[in-house]
Order: sequence, then C-alpha cells, then structure tokens
Amino acid sequence: MHTKLAKLNRKKNIALVAHDNMKMTLCKWAAKHREVLQNHQLLATGTTGLKLEQHLNIAIDKLISGPLGGDQQIGAKISTGTIDVLIFFWDPFEPMPHDPDVKALLRIANVWNIPVANNEATADYLISSHLMDQDYERQIPDYQRYLAERS
Ligand code: PGA
Repeated sequence: MHTKLAKLNRKKNIALVAHDNMKMTLCKWAAKHREVLQNHQLLATGTTGLKLEQHLNIAIDKLISGPLGGDQQIGAKISTGTIDVLIFFWDPFEPMPHDPDVKALLRIANVWNIPVANNEATADYLISSHLMDQDYERQIPDYQRYLAERS
C-alpha cells in the first residue's frame, strides 16, 4: 500500500469507548485528564458518552450505542479522517455480541494509523504526549493512488 502524509491538527477529534465493565475505569481516567480532554473535540459511543457526560460535566458528541452500530460508526469516521485518536477500553474477560465490530474497529484504526489506547496505562502515556497539543503528520493510505492503480 502506498502512503502519503496527512495532518492531525492540534485540536484533535478523540473517540472514547468502553465496554460495560470498563466504563468506570474510563470515567475515572477521563476525570483525571479532564483538563487536556476539554481542549479537544470528544465523541463516544452512546452509553459511554452518557456516562462520561455525567461524570465530567462536559459535552460529548454521542453516536449510537456500540452493540447497535456505534463501533462501526467510529470506524467509518476514522476512514473518512474525522477521528484522530481512539481511546477504547475493551473488556479482556467477557465475550461481546459485537466482537466482530470491535475487531473491525481496531483493524481500521490501524489501517489509518491513528493513535489508539486500549488500556489505562497506554491512555496515560498517549494523553501525556507533547504531540497532543501539536499538529502531527502521519502516514495514511494514498487512496487516490490506490484507485488509480486499480482502474
Ligand atoms: P456503549 O458501547 O458505549 O454504547 O456501551 C460501547 C461498546 O460496547 O462498544
């Protein structure tokens, strides 16, 4: 796959998702990093978004609940370049009805080379990075070239 450079802006679109057993961990994590998070655009799957709003008292764009398609909505937004960072606390101990959507989301986040944190420690490192409040260039698939080569 040929790639090209694409910019992540200083103000980032951050998607937040947590499975039910991980929602409290995410809420506590987000409260700890509220000051940084509030400088960015936040969006979340339905129930995660509700919990975060209650916990943080800041506005979160809420998509559909994960099992009803929210993970796929996030994946679609990553592939169209409207999500820059994914914080996804998935539950390593419980199988989910929407496990295929979870796998698809993690795959598409990797395809588009966005920063992803799947646990609290990684999320701490990510949110503390000096790159969080800078523009940042990353390699993404060169879609025009991909199409041209297939025509
Ligand atoms: P929820 O979805 O925030 O609506 O619970 C998260 C998920 O299960 O992927």
